Order: sequence, then structure tokens, then C-alpha cells
Amino acid sequence: MAKINENYLKLAGSYLFRETAHRTAAYKEAHPEADVISLGIGDVTQPLPKACIEAMHKAVDEMACSSTFRGYGPEQGYSFLIEKIIENNYKGLGIENDEIFISDGAKSDCGNIQEIFSVDNRIAITDPVYPVYLDTNVMAGRTGLLAEDGHYAGVTYLSCNAENNFCPELPEERPDLIYLCCPNNPTGTTLNREQLKVWVDYARENESVILFDAAYNAYITDEDVPRTIFEIEGAHDVAIEFRSFSKTAGFTGTRCGYIVLPKTVMGKTADGSRQALNPLWNRRHTTKFNGTAYIIQRGAEAIYTPEGKQQVKEIISYYMENARIIREGLTAAGVTAFGGVNAPYIWLKTPDNMPSWDFFDKLLNEVNIVGTPGAGFGPCGEGYFRLTAFGNREKTIEAVERIRNNLHF
Ligand SMILES: *Cc1c(COP(=O)(O)O)cnc(C)c1O
Repeated sequence: MAKINENYLKLAGSYLFRETAHRTAAYKEAHPEADVISLGIGDVTQPLPKACIEAMHKAVDEMACSSTFRGYGPEQGYSFLIEKIIENNYKGLGIENDEIFISDGAKSDCGNIQEIFSVDNRIAITDPVYPVYLDTNVMAGRTGLLAEDGHYAGVTYLSCNAENNFCPELPEERPDLIYLCCPNNPTGTTLNREQLKVWVDYARENESVILFDAAYNAYITDEDVPRTIFEIEGAHDVAIEFRSFSKTAGFTGTRCGYIVLPKTVMGKTADGSRQALNPLWNRRHTTKFNGTAYIIQRGAEAIYTPEGKQQVKEIISYYMENARIIREGLTAAGVTAFGGVNAPYIWLKTPDNMPSWDFFDKLLNEVNIVGTPGAGFGPCGEGYFRLTAFGNREKTIEAVERIRNNLHF
């Protein structure tokens, strides 16, 4: 019999959204008349920008004609898209074409990047955070077993909570790889320039690599929050950035993202010599991936046209107005809420430190609202709860009214 990769047996079940869906379905079955509103959704709901749709239609037609048909494209992505990305997102930051790799999304990239690193690297992750970073390292064998307290052995957890203003403290033990997600999912909080500079300096001094997930960069409103880690001096030697068209332009079902990996970011070989990471990723990407569809890359390119920019701005404003309504409504109801200014997530403190799953049940039973328990994003998420701004306006307003009128904090 084939031997399995036993690391997979170390994984905690993908319990979070299965369990919230299960509890919601059970409630609806028992109360068929209830108007249950979901603010648990981590997916966009607004349709794609019109500019993207038009560009994709045009690209489909090109596929119908032998003179414009495209087969395999460059695995790293078409230069028409890479050039637009640099011009619009990295202008003046010294990023070159061969430092960008177009992919089918940030989830794959965040999950796959660990393959170019040795299995005996130590990883640090912020807690709570998007679960993909940790799980893919568990699969690769870079952790020990999951302990009772929800922590994997051999992993450095960087706690982020109200006490430290959601800014992780530098670890005592040096990690090789540091995962940062800014703006953060689930907390909706950010690191400002000064705070991020601390991490870049730390990575330089300690020869660590920062894996910087900027999937929500389009939601940043504060001037003080960098749009890319490459705005920080020195980051070009230590950081890899992940970007996505998913939350930016509604591509969650359409699939397009990219990695920015400067050629100056180094790792080391067993004999101690320095090795640039860019060629390793290039080799990995071109061997295991055959390129994002031409039609999709044309759609992605269209967000950089004047119409595309305007349409993206409108979609994001729509979600961020929902975020404002939730955040201000909760605050008025006496709830302590974070996030919602630079991200479509509101992270609230449960009343009297109520366990987050109990709060899930309370919200569902008493006001028919579904959210996501903080504990599902890491041990430090306990005592917190995530609401999202991806719903429609009316339902969002209605949900906030229900909380304000019926729950006493
Ligand atoms: C949604 C999300 C992603 C995944 O984006 P895709 O490009 O759709 O794969 C990555 N990171 C974070 C933090 C996310 O919330």
C-alpha cells in the first residue's frame, strides 16, 4: 500500500465554516419563518466591474479566430498585465517585470510559496489569521502536533489582540519565515508604516523572510498604512508580497492574483551560500503551473483603465460604507469593535469575554444574525467575533438595527 503524508493527519478539521453552516441550517429548520441575515460571508457579492466584463467578452471573441487565438501563454503571466500592475501599484518602487508572477489567486500563492523553503525552517504567524499559512506548513511537515490549547508545536504564534492594538510583538526566538497579513483577515486591522518598518528591520537583522499578504490592500484608507510592503525601505531584500484581484475587483470566482518577489530576496543553502529566491519560485511556478487564462488576464488588466478604476472604487466604497454602518452601529450599541476602516471586516469583542461560539449561538438565536467565531482563526481569536461588510446594504442596516435594539451589552 502507498504510504501517506502523515502530516495531513495533524491538521485540525476544516471545522469553522462547516460548523457555522451546520448550526445555521439547524436553526432555520427549527424556525422556518426566521429572516436570518448572514454577516459571516467572506466572499464578495457585487458583480464584476463592467470594464472587466467587456474586456473578457472581447478576449473570448479573440479565441474564436485563428489569427488572434491564444494557446499556452507565459506561465508567469502576460506582459500586458504585468506592466499595468507595475505602473499602477509599484511605480517608482523599482519592481521589475520578472519579479511579478501572475497566478490563479493568492490562496494558491500563499499556500505554495513554502515549497521553495527547507522543511526545517521555523515559521511565525500572527494569531488570529487566515488559516492557509499555518495549514500548508502543517502539510509540509514544518510543525509538530496540535496541542490541547490549539497551538501547533514548533510554531511561533504572534498574538494580536486589543491589548497590543493588534500589532504583533517581535518574537523571542528567531523565525526564518514570518507571515504578515495587512490589512488583516479576520481582524480588519493594519500595521502602519512605522510598525511595518520594525518588522522589515527585524527581518533584515535576523535574515528572515517576510511573507506579506496584501489581499485587502485596495480597502486601505489611512494615509499612514502602506499600500505595499515595498514602500518600506529595505523590504526589497526580505519580503515577498501576495496580491489578488479577488477582493479588489470581485474575482473570487474568476481567479487571478500575483506574487511580487524581488530578485534581491535571499535564502541560504545548506553550505551557507546565498541563493536568490526569485529563480526558485520561477522554476516552481513554470513547472507546476501553466498560466492564468488569457481571458481572465485581459479582465484583470481592465481594472487599470480609467473606467475600470472608477468602477472598482465604487464597489469598494459600497462595501466600506457597509463596514462603517456596522462599526458605528456596534459602537453605539456599546460593543467594542475594531477594523472596518481599512478592511471589510469588523472584529468585535464579545460581551463579558463570552466564548466566541457561545456568542455565535446568541446572535443566531436572539437576532437571527450569522457571523464567524473568532476562535476559528486561531487561539487568540477567542473572545472575539467577525462580521463582514460584503453583504447587501439593506440587510446590513437591518442586522445592525436588530443588534442595537435587542442585544444588551
Ligand atoms: C480571500 C483571501 C485570500 C485569497 O484570495 P484568492 O486570490 O481569491 O485566492 C488570500 N489572503 C487572504 C487574507 C484572504 O482573505
